[in-house]
Amino acid sequence: MLPLIKTNIPAKSQLMPKLEEVLYSGYVAQGDVVEEFERKFENYIGGGNTLSLNSGTAALHIALILAGVKQGDEVISTALTAEPTNVAIKMVGAKVRWADVDLSTGNISPESIEKAINSNTKAIIVVDYAGIPVNVSKIQEISKKYNIPVIEDAAHALGAKFRGKRTGNHFPFTIYSFQAIKHLTTIDGGALQILDNNLYNKGKIIRWFGLDKNISRLENDIQIQGYKYHMNNVNAAIGIVQLENIESIVQKYIENGKYLDENLKGIDGVELIEYYPDTEPSYWLYTLKVKNRDAFVKMMAENGIMASELHKRNDLHTYLNDFPADLPNLDNFYQNMVHIPCGWWVTKEDCDKMIELMKKGW
Ligand SMILES: *Cc1c(COP(=O)(O)O)cnc(C)c1O
Repeated sequence: MLPLIKTNIPAKSQLMPKLEEVLYSGYVAQGDVVEEFERKFENYIGGGNTLSLNSGTAALHIALILAGVKQGDEVISTALTAEPTNVAIKMVGAKVRWADVDLSTGNISPESIEKAINSNTKAIIVVDYAGIPVNVSKIQEISKKYNIPVIEDAAHALGAKFRGKRTGNHFPFTIYSFQAIKHLTTIDGGALQILDNNLYNKGKIIRWFGLDKNISRLENDIQIQGYKYHMNNVNAAIGIVQLENIESIVQKYIENGKYLDENLKGIDGVELIEYYPDTEPSYWLYTLKVKNRDAFVKMMAENGIMASELHKRNDLHTYLNDFPADLPNLDNFYQNMVHIPCGWWVTKEDCDKMIELMKKGW
């Protein structure tokens, strides 16, 4: 079965020398290797400051704290995402206010965000779902107009671009996940990309119990709630080796995605996703809309290809559904949406096979 997701670990010969060096160095906690990973990740993103963490969820949590979201506040978010996006909102005691999606992309709708804003709104979380960048320019305008910070959940969208610049450069906070199945894995891990230098320094303190690592333990004075969210040297060593290959790995997703975009045009029962102007997806999954989805998924499975909607609508989780809302575009999009594989393990022959199968119908 051609899987929808797959873990990418560099070849032994490439990974082991660095990993063994760090494992037996006597220093496996957060140290110089973490620092090295952060500076290299910043370099890949092309701007901002990288706060490395032990998960993408930790990155969301710290972003919400730095955005000033507190108990009882509201955060506008999308229901079409992985659960951590919205579970994190509850971690600061805030409530989730749903915005609907755009029908042609599945990403959060700027118009719907604007309608959901009220005096309790303290942040907006947007998700580049399946690697498709959100409507960056419209969302930036709304953020400015209402003075509400935006957190971009780019867990699916490492390497995706807007106006030629990678995710991580467009909003005050962008989160990445380095969990097993993402574009880049450190086994587990995450990063919060922060544009403001002062907030970056505050983020460093929050990730380590509220302690300032630049001051000796005895002279430290904890003044804010902190957590144990740091990355360690072992995960960072894996991250550094992964970064050596990241351009070509992400490029494989993009090449497959573009090839499918070109060759799935005009097929009966298939509707392709549209991309916003000036954006370049990094196609973590290939997303499309199909008629008779159940029959489609079955036909693909019978031919050895995994197709799935993968995520459950988050508004169907009782705990996350603080303000039940009518989401007609999401109802429509979710009914026909499906993902097919397009990652680094998918060959051109695999793509051709999927295209032929879809042309034959289901
Ligand atoms: C994976 C993921 C996260 C959380 O990442 P973890 O590293 O698993 O905590 C957050 N948001 C989305 C959209 C994700 O897919």
